[in-house]
Amino acid sequence: MARAKNKKLVNYDLTALDHLVPAIAVTLRELFPLNRSLTGAGVRQTYRILRRIGRFKVQAVPSGKKVFDWTVPPEWMVRAAYIKDAQGKIIIDFKKNNLHLMGYSQPVNRWMSYRQLIKHLHALPTLPGAIPYRTTYYKKDWGFCLSQRQLQHLDRRGRYQVVIDSQLKPGHLLLGDYVQPGPSRQEYLLSTYSCHPSLANDNLSGLVLWAYLLKIVQSTRTRHSYRFTVWPETIGALAYLATHPGLAERLTGGLVIATVGGPGRLGYKQTWQGDSVIDQAVAAACQRLKIKPLLYPFSPSGSDERQLSSPGFRVPVGSITKDKYLEYRYYHTSLDDLNFVKAEYIVKALKLYLATLQELEKETLLHSNFPFGEPHLGKRGLYPTMGGASYGRRDLDTIRWILFYADGRHTMAAIAKKAKLPYSRIRFLAKKLQAKGVISAS
Ligand code: ZN
Repeated sequence: MARAKNKKLVNYDLTALDHLVPAIAVTLRELFPLNRSLTGAGVRQTYRILRRIGRFKVQAVPSGKKVFDWTVPPEWMVRAAYIKDAQGKIIIDFKKNNLHLMGYSQPVNRWMSYRQLIKHLHALPTLPGAIPYRTTYYKKDWGFCLSQRQLQHLDRRGRYQVVIDSQLKPGHLLLGDYVQPGPSRQEYLLSTYSCHPSLANDNLSGLVLWAYLLKIVQSTRTRHSYRFTVWPETIGALAYLATHPGLAERLTGGLVIATVGGPGRLGYKQTWQGDSVIDQAVAAACQRLKIKPLLYPFSPSGSDERQLSSPGFRVPVGSITKDKYLEYRYYHTSLDDLNFVKAEYIVKALKLYLATLQELEKETLLHSNFPFGEPHLGKRGLYPTMGGASYGRRDLDTIRWILFYADGRHTMAAIAKKAKLPYSRIRFLAKKLQAKGVISAS
């Protein structure tokens, strides 16, 4: 039997999160070495470990399935991958660092010259000690990534044996989810991605924060519904949306949890609307925790907010970050490791995520019960008249603004801000409209 949930999320003590540091550090170390990709054993193992922290279901989508304009790729499996020199010495080995092998590399086993090999090698001259992260999900290819220093040590007249013992075969793409139901009409999405191998900030930090946030939400009672999802970036988001028709319309908003464990400042990437209920909740949470985040206006590059905000879905999705992807030097390189990411940084970001959910819990959205045109105010005694009413002609404007924004996407505070009217008046009149059954608040 499930334990009774007595504690409300809104009352959760944020300082208690500091006690999670040791447990998060253990989870980071356990998950870091796994070879995650769009599919495969590393993702399965990652989900198994995450499910020990918070409960969630895993749905398998078969390879070859069409999802909108995309097709679910085959499953990728790697047993070994290395490059040997003419003396038989292994000089690059996937076993040492999974970033050495380009993600989704095809199988190879042959000798070749330096000139042939170099076409398949990737290094970063600007960060000579780092191994870059590369993938070839949708183009049949293979490659190795190595540091610029390793590259410089290769003998240009040498011959090399390249072995990639990999397999690409029909399998499954895994989508994890959990829905915590709440009594209000609001539902929020909390999403992260599981496709990056040994890279700590992007996005092991996101996976770990997501799992602990899930655990906390599961231990509390909430007013709203929260849908937690984990999937490989892009194709996973599309596969989930394709297999959950009508979901995007029901979602009030969402947050993509990505790159939340770096030493830098907390940041916030706004939703495409910029002033949605999510943006307001993040702003209120920052104010409460006295945080001044780096603000990133929405842009259509980034993570799964790209899919979720696309014209067919248009969910307002933001992202709280701590060293945002593309912004830090070690992004997508082997230096994005557990020296860069720390459990205590993740806890800082977790506090802001949790505080944001607490702000959302306080939000009430207005829904018109007569959304097709204006309701008839006169016949309900709501049309302001000169005598007797507790409100006057001047309130008609305010009532119209409330009705205009009562689309299930706006709080009273948001309406006050947009219409440039006093909040107290909006609240007073919204109550009247509610009492007469013209709008509902949920
Ligand atoms: Zn990435």
